[in-house]
Amino acid sequence: MNKGGVFVVAGPSGSGKDTLFKELFKRKPEIKFSISSITRPMRVGEVEGEKYNFITREKFLSMLENDELLEYNEYIGNYYGTPKAPVIAAIENGDDILIEVDVNGAKEICQKLPEAITVFIMPPSYKELKRRLSGRGTETQDLIDKRMKEALNEIARATEFDYIVVNDDIQTAVDDIIEVMSSSRLALKRQKNLIDGVLSNVES
Ligand code: 5GP
Repeated sequence: MNKGGVFVVAGPSGSGKDTLFKELFKRKPEIKFSISSITRPMRVGEVEGEKYNFITREKFLSMLENDELLEYNEYIGNYYGTPKAPVIAAIENGDDILIEVDVNGAKEICQKLPEAITVFIMPPSYKELKRRLSGRGTETQDLIDKRMKEALNEIARATEFDYIVVNDDIQTAVDDIIEVMSSSRLALKRQKNLIDGVLSNVES
């Protein structure tokens, strides 16, 4: 059986990832999503176990100690981590899995899973990023300013990714991600075994 593909998707807060993912999973329900374990308080409208498992700092530190996380990061005073077991299970079952992380998390995952394909979601402009971050209406100005600073730092590191998808029109951005997922099956980093297989059967 073919192994599943790992798609590591990052993009700053305000790049519209949540809306994009909702639409992607509506169109491709067979794709698995990695639910992160995080210590940030739940926002209005968030549901436990949907995108995140909201856990205590103590529980997070024990997961870390027990080597249950593929990667983790501290973001504005809270921990965010990717549980390892569901990712490994998806790969072994032949399912594609999408992991949402920040840019540091993406780097860490690629060190552990070099076949992972990385995608950066880019807001269409600075003006639109600012509008999206301020327009949420659920956070203080201080937090909005911190998120804007983090967002600009992350955008400066978009060059570290395999693909960049601009999230202006949502349907176009989802089309782009689906195209990346399907064409990545032909990418060199997912086909190394094939080359080794052919070369190891050469008759002298
Ligand atoms: P938010 O608080 O806005 O939901 O997320 C803050 C940041 O944490 C975003 O950049 C988001 O992509 C990132 N993030 C979400 N889950 C994870 C995770 O499991 N690991 C890491 N490293 N970052 C994550």
